[in-house]
Amino acid sequence: MSLIENIIRPEVRALSAYHVPDAGGFVKLDAMENPYILPETLREELGRRLADVALNRYPVPSYTELKARICAKLGVPAGYDVILGNGSDELISIVSVACAKPGAKVLAPTPGFVMYAMSAKFAGLEFVGVPLKPDFSLDKAAMLAAIEQHKPAITYLAYPNNPTGNVFDVADMVEIIKAVGDTGAVIVDEAYQPFAQDTFMPRLPEFPNLVVMRTVSKLGLAGIRLGYMSCSGALLTEFDKVRPPYNVNVLTQAAAEFVLEHVDVLDAQAASLRWERTKLAAELTALPGVEVFPSAANFLLVRVKNPNITSDGVFSALLDRKVLIKNVGKMHPLLENCLRVTVSTPEENRIFLDAMKASLAS
Ligand code: PMP
Repeated sequence: MSLIENIIRPEVRALSAYHVPDAGGFVKLDAMENPYILPETLREELGRRLADVALNRYPVPSYTELKARICAKLGVPAGYDVILGNGSDELISIVSVACAKPGAKVLAPTPGFVMYAMSAKFAGLEFVGVPLKPDFSLDKAAMLAAIEQHKPAITYLAYPNNPTGNVFDVADMVEIIKAVGDTGAVIVDEAYQPFAQDTFMPRLPEFPNLVVMRTVSKLGLAGIRLGYMSCSGALLTEFDKVRPPYNVNVLTQAAAEFVLEHVDVLDAQAASLRWERTKLAAELTALPGVEVFPSAANFLLVRVKNPNITSDGVFSALLDRKVLIKNVGKMHPLLENCLRVTVSTPEENRIFLDAMKASLAS
């Protein structure tokens, strides 16, 4: 046996790394980033704040100030605390590691965010995917049957869902949270909450097994890598035990504290992206051979319904025009011929639309 076979777990060897394409020179619409930067005055002030950060010191391990600001500014209910992660990706990993009893399972509707399944596999958990209905709503009966059969330690419900963009029915979600009960945690992943605005955060006190996970990435701070998650204190204490020490660095901490004092700026950017989403959806819908799905997120899922070209063809024709979106057409049978595009500035949306028109004609 080779060194790799000797030491690396077979399920890890069977995985492919999470692929992030190099977007140099492209109009980048593949990763649901907020295209707007902070206004110049705020950037200058932020620069001064960051200059004062003690880079020679480890971060304050309790993150007291940052957590207090997150709780105050981002709608965490009174009496609830948060755990912070290096992006919500790290929080997903923390939950997986904490719950990785031998034989434990992770359940999520599919298609969904790929890290739920990947992180489960990293931690040695079995992943069970339950297909959504063709309209991307939850198949409640199938979810409840899977919960009964597999007794998942972790169930993820992304609200809104990535890559489909829709929000699931709240009553269905509540039924699922109740059906899981004290046999598992239900993580409601609200990465796209700034664009949906609906949230389960105020409902934390109703459900001891509910965990609400968020990120500042889509709000406009993808580069600083900061996620936060809230749930009952008892559960939070356990998750916190497997969090790597100092996992949020001093620059992220200082930048987040500063920006959260000005969160209204980011909220206004999210509001304008919601408006752009409506416009972009209408213009895409008007193109022949394209189906656009309803979205409560900062991206749109579109299906190519043109007998002459597939989603692969449109994706590469867009690349030729220096526009990078995400081809999800082979990710799941329900996504056949689908593409996902981030909603951006009016200028970038126009470039995308023009490139899309030309690509569909090619
Ligand atoms: N959850 C969902 C549903 C996502 O789509 C993403 C990123 N694409 C994340 C979590 C991870 O976000 P981050 O690590 O940037 O906080």
